[in-house]
Amino acid sequence: MIKYFTIENNFFGENSPKKLLDTYGSPLYVYNEQILRRRCQDMLSLVSYPKFIPSFSTKANSNVKLLQIIKEEGLYADAMSPGEIYVLESAGFRPEEIFFIPNNVSKEEMSYAIDRGILMSADSLSQLETFGQINSGGSVALRLNPGIGIGHHKKVITAGLDTKFGINLEDVEIAKDIISKYNLNLVGLNQHIGSLFLDSTPFIESVKNLLDIARGFKNLQFIDFGGGFGIPYRKQSGENPLDLKQLGTRLTSIITSWARDYGQDILFKIEPGRYIVAESGILLGTVHSIKENGGITYIGTDIGFNTIMRPVLYDAHHDIEVYRDGNLLPSGKNDKKVTIVGNICESGDIISKDIELPNIKLGDIIGIIDAGAYGYSMASNYNNRLRPAEVLIENGGQTSLIRRRDTLDDLLRNFTLT
Ligand SMILES: *Cc1c(COP(=O)(O)O)cnc(C)c1O
Repeated sequence: MIKYFTIENNFFGENSPKKLLDTYGSPLYVYNEQILRRRCQDMLSLVSYPKFIPSFSTKANSNVKLLQIIKEEGLYADAMSPGEIYVLESAGFRPEEIFFIPNNVSKEEMSYAIDRGILMSADSLSQLETFGQINSGGSVALRLNPGIGIGHHKKVITAGLDTKFGINLEDVEIAKDIISKYNLNLVGLNQHIGSLFLDSTPFIESVKNLLDIARGFKNLQFIDFGGGFGIPYRKQSGENPLDLKQLGTRLTSIITSWARDYGQDILFKIEPGRYIVAESGILLGTVHSIKENGGITYIGTDIGFNTIMRPVLYDAHHDIEVYRDGNLLPSGKNDKKVTIVGNICESGDIISKDIELPNIKLGDIIGIIDAGAYGYSMASNYNNRLRPAEVLIENGGQTSLIRRRDTLDDLLRNFTLT
């Protein structure tokens, strides 16, 4: 059984989960700087083609401290909204390092990026038209829908026939007309076919497709293949990671020969989100109740779906670990089937159903593994719950608070009470 990120592998440094919760409260997001940096480096060295840059997809995790680390490692970043642009700039990203890839934005939101000198990609003919009206003569990229989609759940497949994203290939000629009507400078093409692939074949196919289309455009400065690089969420059952070496080799050979034919120096980009941050985060929570209902053992925790949405939203699996007295409880013969639930008033508030775990007691600590991506960034105040704090285990082993827990006052902050 593979357990990459347990206490044995020193995810928590010198701090036991118990000590972390005693210090910072429960529930708590804990991040490991070393793992984060390593994942950045994996992506930076994915291909051996000189002009290649991974651009971190901010929506996976927008903690400013983590963004600073990602920037330090040399990645660029993608933003979906003015809010993400704002946060990226405060983390130190320069305008030319930010790519705005919005979906269905207003003129004002487009202007927010344009005024800052941030390049934007148009996601539809109508958004391209709007962009032309407000920024005639400006530079723009096009998000194409290459007709191939992939993903771990239908909600995260973002290309193919059944999606709201991108400009369809049959509309490319119309897009070219709009570009010349407004005298726009088309500098790049981008795509994003979906999230979480562990087999790189469909991704490679989509790369080839996009490159075929790109041949029909002159003077492109970059081509961006999107994100979706998966991580193994089922490590405890031996799921293998993405074969980056194989993917990198295939990608290198495809882009190198394409660039030679194109005859122009061109930058290639990817947009990993999950791959960069997922494995660097564990969500810790506490067991407050244990009960039997209809033959099912419910382990009641403070990890409601306001702290982590993925299980409820996508039926997503996270491996789970149990800690007691500072130690990991080993799984084995005494394992019992249990259902781990949160503290939100909805029957759907289930983190993991029917899983085998060691015999759990009140006060035990639950660790939700691989929670760094789409964890905190999707957290909410539903049920007027306070969003958790976030803590970083730094390279030296010391911990630092990188976002405080919400306070009760935060719940009233936006009201205009008289
Ligand atoms: C969400 C998103 C990504 C990142 O997806 P991951 O699966 O986290 O790598 C990249 N590009 C776009 C346009 C996205 O919407």
